[in-house]
Amino acid sequence: VKSSKNKRQQFMDRAAKKKQKREDEDLATGLANGSIIKVDRSKITSCSWGPVTFPEYYKDKSFTCKDCGSKEVWLASQQKRWYEEQGGEIETKAVRCRDCRHIEKQRKNEARRIHLEGIQKKKEN
Ligand SMILES: [Zn+2]
Repeated sequence: VKSSKNKRQQFMDRAAKKKQKREDEDLATGLANGSIIKVDRSKITSCSWGPVTFPEYYKDKSFTCKDCGSKEVWLASQQKRWYEEQGGEIETKAVRCRDCRHIEKQRKNEARRIHLEGIQKKKEN
C-alpha cells in the first residue's frame, strides 16, 4: 500500500511540475508577444479602503460589452495604459466595446449640454 501511495505522489509531483513548466512557458511567450505585461504597482491607484490584492501581470482579457453584447478583448497593453497612465482604479475594468464607449461619451456630453443650457435659461429669465 505504501509503495503505491508513493507512486501516486510521484505522479502528482510530476504533473504539478509539468503544469508549472507550462505556466512558465506561457508567461515567457506572453511577455514576449505583449499579451502579458508586468504590473508596475507603484503607479496603480485604488478606491478601496480595505486591503487590495494587486495583480502581478496584465493579461489579455475577454469580456462581453454590457450594451451591445459584443465579445471583446481588453488587451494587456490597454489595461496598463488605463491603470498606470490614465489613473483608472484597480477596481474598475472594461465593460463596453469601443463603439459603445463612444456612444456613452456622446450621451454624457449631450446630457451635460442640456443641463448647462437649463441653468443658462434660468439665469436669463
Ligand atoms: Zn458594445
